[in-house]
Amino acid sequence: MVRLNSHDQREMDKAKDLIDTGPTTEMGFVRNLFFGRLRLDKVLPYPVQDEAEAKRTKSLLRKLDVFLDLSVNPDWIDRHQEIPDRVIRGLASLGVFGMTVPQEYGGGGFSHTGYCRALERISRTCASTAVLVGAHQSIGLKAIVLMGTEEQKQRFLPKLASGEELAAFALTEPEAGSDAANVQTTAVLEPGSDHWTLNGSKKFITNGALAKVMTVMARTPDPANPGRTKVTAFIVTPDLPGFEVVRPNRDKLGIRGTWQAELRFNNMYVPTDRVLGEVGKGLKVALGVLNYGRCTLSAGCLGAAKVLLEMAVRRATERKQFGRRLGDFQMIKQKIARIAQLTFAMESLTYLSAGMVDRHEDDMMLETAITKIFCSEALKEIADETLQIWGGEGYMADHGIERMWRDGRINTIVEGATEVMTSFVALMGMKGVGEEFEEVLHAITHPIGNMGRLAEFARHEWSDVLVGHHADGLHPSLHREGDELAHQTRSLARCVTRLLAGHREKIIDMQLLQKRIAWATINMYASTAVLARLNWMIGKAESNGGVEHIAQDLAVGTSFCHDAADRADRLLDDLFHNRDNETIAVADKVLGFDEEKADESHEGDEDDD
Ligand SMILES: Cc1cc2nc3c(=O)[nH]c(=O)nc-3n(C[C@H](O)[C@H](O)[C@H](O)COP(=O)(O)OP(=O)(O)OC[C@H]3O[C@@H](n4cnc5c(N)ncnc54)[C@H](O)[C@@H]3O)c2cc1C
Repeated sequence: MVRLNSHDQREMDKAKDLIDTGPTTEMGFVRNLFFGRLRLDKVLPYPVQDEAEAKRTKSLLRKLDVFLDLSVNPDWIDRHQEIPDRVIRGLASLGVFGMTVPQEYGGGGFSHTGYCRALERISRTCASTAVLVGAHQSIGLKAIVLMGTEEQKQRFLPKLASGEELAAFALTEPEAGSDAANVQTTAVLEPGSDHWTLNGSKKFITNGALAKVMTVMARTPDPANPGRTKVTAFIVTPDLPGFEVVRPNRDKLGIRGTWQAELRFNNMYVPTDRVLGEVGKGLKVALGVLNYGRCTLSAGCLGAAKVLLEMAVRRATERKQFGRRLGDFQMIKQKIARIAQLTFAMESLTYLSAGMVDRHEDDMMLETAITKIFCSEALKEIADETLQIWGGEGYMADHGIERMWRDGRINTIVEGATEVMTSFVALMGMKGVGEEFEEVLHAITHPIGNMGRLAEFARHEWSDVLVGHHADGLHPSLHREGDELAHQTRSLARCVTRLLAGHREKIIDMQLLQKRIAWATINMYASTAVLARLNWMIGKAESNGGVEHIAQDLAVGTSFCHDAADRADRLLDDLFHNRDNETIAVADKVLGFDEEKADESHEGDEDDD
């Protein structure tokens, strides 16, 4: 057995904590892709709200739109770095702060889809306001709704749902950013005591200085493994002795109306009935909550993208240079097409994932992660290209584009930075295949007596793959795109097995290969979402007299799929033909890491002499 040093053992424990939180039941759509299975039955029909809830949502959105138009000034909020109390009170009176809280605790009892629609609308007007609502409802109070005891729900939810109190979610620490499992805040329960003692600090906590209730992650002793610790979630209120706001906010690039606090817990007294979920299962709480947060963050990105698309189209049709409209130039046409395709895909992904949340899918971690990566990266590109189309005017503060460019930038960093989530998608997707593959590798190295196992693998690998047929359940006009997806699913599975055969556990450090696998998968899942939505739109249009009025959506959506297929093909090809070693060698030189490596390889030379 391999002996691990203490650092590796710690990393292993953290990874195990995270992986243990994964679903044990049926595999989701994306995990299936890695096995070569295109399970369109998992995404069809495209989810839509039921009629009664759609009506209720529409009525709320109408009032919300009026309020946002009349009462929310994003430029003022950006300049003054605060969201006026009357904005918070106005949103509270509309019921926005408790939309997803069950009605028995004073909330609106809306679906996640309904809530995403509201967040999309708020972020069309003001990203800061959307983030304040999101930090409160998507992540701040969500753990109480999902994992709170009846007593905790009755005690905390009504005031949070009404907006009388704000909530926050406190995970990040100086040493626990992307490495969320590295929480250093400790919580200790003395035998026979009625309270935990918390010590440590948190940073970047949105609403942290305003919130009256927060979900806080801290490290607690693991009773099953003396000397080891696990993360536990606690409900913390600022009235607890030992709670300190070190700094309420910091000046920053975008979403300047929101406040990120630095908090400190000095022997903070936390009653035992404030544990949220089970002791030691805090990362499960965090990941569960972030599943929701990633979906609503995407809805926020979508709202901004829609406004930017409208602005890009307006400028390209109105502004003339060289005697022609900007939109007459092919390079601008290309930008407009790309912005429209990305926006369509963002919407398709956001509401597919929201629908999965509403259907209580068992395994949707990869789907929500992909939605978050795609929507945050797409908004970054859309904001940048729209600013470019607007030229010098775009750079000026008057039109709001530069603010949206700044505001949108946060989304690729928070709730899982793109790089971390990219690696997560590839590794979690390959994990199941890898486990099966280990057995197969064993069979290959010990073929005698394992021929049956090998034959079974060979059969399984190809029989699960959809070969050359139409993807079941899609309208005939989408068969070309469906077939392409089926073909790519097969390529992905082949590539994954080839990579695992070639690199085995070394794949864990090969991030450039992971990135290609992840982005091929992201493109495939985004196409799936687009096709599922188009399929639903066609069905609806046909029963309403014809598809002519959705001709633009069809053109935008199918062209997105063609482009995504090309991108995925290139990424999969590049897995085996690339200059990764050269790139890494250059980076090591620039970083000075090659000298470190040389020193390490010469360590002990003197002893040898
Ligand atoms: C405006 C704002 C609001 C926030 N709100 C909250 C909140 O309400 N609650 C909360 O708990 N936290 C919050 N955060 C914290 C946020 O979640 C973290 O900033 C985020 O997780 C990244 O951590 P970090 O900033 O420490 O970056 P680091 O972990 O230092 O990472 C920096 C960069 O390194 C790269 N990187 C890191 N790890 C890897 C890897 N394994 N592979 C490749 N590249 C990698 C990524 O590009 C990453 O962007 C907020 C932050 C900001 C700026």
